[in-house]
Amino acid sequence: MIEVKAYAAYDAETPLKPFDFERRDLGPHHIHIDILFSGVCHSDIHTARSEWGKANYPVVPGHEIVGRVIAVGSEVTAFKVGELAGIGCFVDSCRECQSCKEGEEQYCEQGMTGTYNSFERGTKIPTYGGYSTSITVDEKYALHVSDTLDLAGVAPLLCAGITTYSPLKYLKVGKGHKVAVLGLGGLGHMAVKFAASFGAEVTMLSTSPSKEADARKLGAHNFALISDESVMASLQNSFDFIINTISAQHEYATYLNLLRKNGTMVLLGIPPIPSAAPAMTLIRKRRSIIGSLIGGIAETQEMLDYCAEHNIASDVEVIDMKYINEAYDRMEKSDVKYRFVIDMASMK
Ligand code: NAP
Ligand code: ZN
Ligand code: ZN
Repeated sequence: MIEVKAYAAYDAETPLKPFDFERRDLGPHHIHIDILFSGVCHSDIHTARSEWGKANYPVVPGHEIVGRVIAVGSEVTAFKVGELAGIGCFVDSCRECQSCKEGEEQYCEQGMTGTYNSFERGTKIPTYGGYSTSITVDEKYALHVSDTLDLAGVAPLLCAGITTYSPLKYLKVGKGHKVAVLGLGGLGHMAVKFAASFGAEVTMLSTSPSKEADARKLGAHNFALISDESVMASLQNSFDFIINTISAQHEYATYLNLLRKNGTMVLLGIPPIPSAAPAMTLIRKRRSIIGSLIGGIAETQEMLDYCAEHNIASDVEVIDMKYINEAYDRMEKSDVKYRFVIDMASMK
């Protein structure tokens, strides 16, 4: 067994605390990764606090993992000791269903195996995520990471990056499209970067006046405060797509009215309390709402390669592990610029 130091949520109410546990020994197809950086996603908070239903405590969150391979199983072919590797939101899937065969393992018909708050496939062994010193994973569910980008800025690509890249690609967003991004946090700032990089005109819709200058630096062409009624009125019927990353409860209708005829709002944020779908607002302009869940392994690799080629990484605030509870509190107040990333050296 492999001894690991981590931080875990022990229940929904109390702060995360240190937690020592053992990872399984390396199987023939496994790689063992010494974790260097682990991003902090709002899904970690939703899960740790049981906002999406009771979590399986203790929960070691973290699904934006970058590290170095320190051992490989006897049958491993894709990774060598010393190479960089990344792990995202899932560590296994059934490998047989239509979605798995299509390389969209996140939509596995039998359910993907989450990097945390899940069980190793076919067992009762809990999965523990990236707020830990090392992880073992099947090589098929690990990603290759270029060493040309700042590694702390690469970690958030494993969730925030792929979650925004995937729907923009699916919808073929590019030149000539007007895209609004709702919420400038971890997902939002990556959505701005990708949509601008793909050639769209990007408008940032935010509750935070202090984020305007940064939004423009990230690539947004326009910035609007959601609270500014006259600006919001002037934006009615103007966007082809809205990328909705809001983590808290909100009304969809306010934002759907900003879509033009046939426009689409992509739901990425998963507020604990669901919103109603306003039929009239959708019907009047044949608007649609779709959801999108992270991305498959092949597309995640494509996204990482795209980022290495175009020098795209997340803008991060690097923190020590023991700062995690303050980071959570700050994210709850939208005080994030634009992803907290844990330097795992602070645990070693
Ligand atoms: P985050 O970094 O905390 O950012 C969320 C942003 O939403 C905030 O910074 C804030 O931006 C805005 N916001 C918060 N409360 C708001 C409100 N009441 N009204 C309007 N805007 C509000 O969170 P994240 O890590 O990007 O995650 C965002 C959501 O996506 C979470 O629910 C998370 O669970 C979900 N998620 C989904 C997937 C998927 O596969 N679909 C993957 C990862 C995460 P401003 O300051 O600009 O207003
Ligand atoms: Zn995430
Ligand atoms: Zn499957």
